[in-house]
Amino acid sequence: MPIQLYNSLSRSLVELRPLVPGKVTMYHCGPTVYSSPHIGNFRSFLFADVLRRFVEDQGFQVTQVMNVTDVGHLTLDDIEGGEDKMEAASRKTGMTAWDIAKKYEAEFHDCQRQLFVRLPHHMPRATEFVPQMGAIIDDLLQKGIAYQKAGNVYFEVAKFPGYGKLSGKVLDELEAGARVAVNDEKKDPRDFALWKTDAKHQMQWDAPFRGGARGFPGWHIECSAMSMHYLGPQIDIHTGGEDNMFPHHECEIAQTEAHTGRQFVSVWMHARHLLVDGKKMSKSLGNFFTVADVLQKGYSGRELRYALICVQYRQALNFTLAGLDAARASITRVQQCRRRLAAIRDGREGPGGDGLAAAVAAAQAGFTAAMSEDLNVSEALAVGFELVAAANKASPSVAGATAALHAFARFEDVLGCFGPEPADAAVGAPAELLALLPERQAAKQRKDWAAADRIRDQLAAAGWKIVDTKDGPRLERL
Ligand SMILES: [Zn+2]
Repeated sequence: MPIQLYNSLSRSLVELRPLVPGKVTMYHCGPTVYSSPHIGNFRSFLFADVLRRFVEDQGFQVTQVMNVTDVGHLTLDDIEGGEDKMEAASRKTGMTAWDIAKKYEAEFHDCQRQLFVRLPHHMPRATEFVPQMGAIIDDLLQKGIAYQKAGNVYFEVAKFPGYGKLSGKVLDELEAGARVAVNDEKKDPRDFALWKTDAKHQMQWDAPFRGGARGFPGWHIECSAMSMHYLGPQIDIHTGGEDNMFPHHECEIAQTEAHTGRQFVSVWMHARHLLVDGKKMSKSLGNFFTVADVLQKGYSGRELRYALICVQYRQALNFTLAGLDAARASITRVQQCRRRLAAIRDGREGPGGDGLAAAVAAAQAGFTAAMSEDLNVSEALAVGFELVAAANKASPSVAGATAALHAFARFEDVLGCFGPEPADAAVGAPAELLALLPERQAAKQRKDWAAADRIRDQLAAAGWKIVDTKDGPRLERL
């Protein structure tokens, strides 16, 4: 069955047809590492993860790149105003911009692990790709599509007729917006920076292009350079949050296509904003959650993952704590069903005569159909719960239980929100997992809740939960 994806560029569903048959290249705009990752960021990153998992499930070989933005992303990025987010965080905390980047990149990787993200094949840092950005800037300057003013380099939008084709923003609208930020250096208010000079900026490089001044790159050129380095001039899928569409992705298209003369991306995909308690998440409204905030409330990484992927990525998703409780109940229902089926398969519970063949076939086909329709995760989950209901009602045979377990293993492989198949409760936990219990106790004693939670999640990932008793903690099957 062909995979249909909504292409923001054509504003229609299109069939995924990779440039090289059987292989799919994906680039995702990654985190800007100046603060702790929040759950809104992760709606978009988990969407990218589920996309990759499903494309792999359908037999494609995927190469996935997600960058780390550690320089050049301005606080007012839509009008190129404000200051570099890394510098702003440095000013507030007294740490250097380099140390800020290191700290929050590590936190981001931690969150990826806790939310069971399949790690992208490449996660390049922008600060390590300045020479590659320079090569593109040099070419654009040579072609007369970019120009220099007082050391700053701008892309001349008037020289790229396709500007605006992704976001649909037209000239008048852009000029009105750009007047907010008066910049006499620009020939046209829509022109955007490829390279900036600022003597006070902590992260600086000698110009990586001919005839330039010492400075730092603009945010947009980073993604063009890293994408091209790993995936070549043309890629199959590029994703981001809906707020990346303009100006970031519009500028990526302009500079990449002006440089290569070819279409940059076949399918552009954008995840919708997450709402929390019905409103856009903001610190001032008190509805702002980092990933760590949610985990500290006692929810597991899988429960958070479930709550963030359970609605199709282009639909509004309203995140609430009640939604996390519902996620917990849903996961438990699936795991209880799998445990019983495993007991039947392994001969610990008497089998019946029901082959479950029709229910399993319908679930497998229904899951593929739902996911092939622009990653309709909510429909795919509904299909999974129909199989739970059918299996719970039936007296499955060994073959029926085995087939249903295969289906659940596949759903888990694509969605990653249920966990591994629950194992026999009578078999004790392996020694290496038991060894984590004293480690967790020690972490709790020194009030290192993040470390304690990490251990809990690690155990949960292996199918075990911690039960605190008066004789100390012990492990039970999830
Ligand atoms: Zn990007």
